[in-house]
Amino acid sequence: MRDCGTCTACCRWPKIPELYKSWKTRCQHLKKVKGTNNCTIHPDRPPPCQEYKCSWLRGHGDEEHQPDQCGVLIDARLSQWGKVLVAKALRPGACQTEEGMAAIMAIGASRNLPVIITHDDDADLVVGAAGHEGIVNQIKASPGPIPLNTPQATHEQAVQEVLKNMGINIPDGG
Ligand code: SF4
Ligand code: SF4
Repeated sequence: MRDCGTCTACCRWPKIPELYKSWKTRCQHLKKVKGTNNCTIHPDRPPPCQEYKCSWLRGHGDEEHQPDQCGVLIDARLSQWGKVLVAKALRPGACQTEEGMAAIMAIGASRNLPVIITHDDDADLVVGAAGHEGIVNQIKASPGPIPLNTPQATHEQAVQEVLKNMGINIPDGG
C-alpha cells in the first residue's frame, strides 16, 4: 500500500470548488510546518480531498512515477471519449519529458486506459493522447486544443444513479 509521503501535488494543482480553489493555485490550508508542507485542516478536509487518490497512489506505475517526482499528475475521469486517464503537467513541458512520458505510458498500460494529455496552462484543454489510436488521430487532426468535457448524458445518468440510491424515483421525462 502506497502513501503520499511528502508529495502535495493534488493540494497545489487541481480545481477544488468546495475550497474555491482554481487550477494551479496552492490550497490556502497547505502550510509549511517544520520545513514540511502539511494540510492544516486534515481531519476536517472536504470530501473531495478525503476521496482523492491519483493513479500512482492507487498502485499504478513505478515509484519514480509519483507526481512530484515525474512532474505529471494522472487521474481518471469520464470524458467525451468515455473513461480516460488525464495527465496534467506540474511543471512546464512535464508531459513531454522522458520522465513524464514514461509515467504516462506505464500508468496508461497498468490501468488499460487511454491517456489524455492536457495543456500546461489549462487542464480542461486536450493537446495530445496516448494508448488509443483513434483518439490520438482525432487530436492530431484538430486545428487546436480540444475542450475536455464530461458528456451531458453521462452527467444526467450519474444524477439519476444518485437519486436512485437515495430512493427517489424520477419518471422518464419528469
Ligand atoms: S498527487 Fe497522488 S501521491 Fe501526490 S499527494 Fe496527491 S494523491 Fe498523494
Ligand atoms: S484542504 Fe488539505 S488536503 Fe485539501 S487541498 Fe487543501 S491542503 Fe490539500
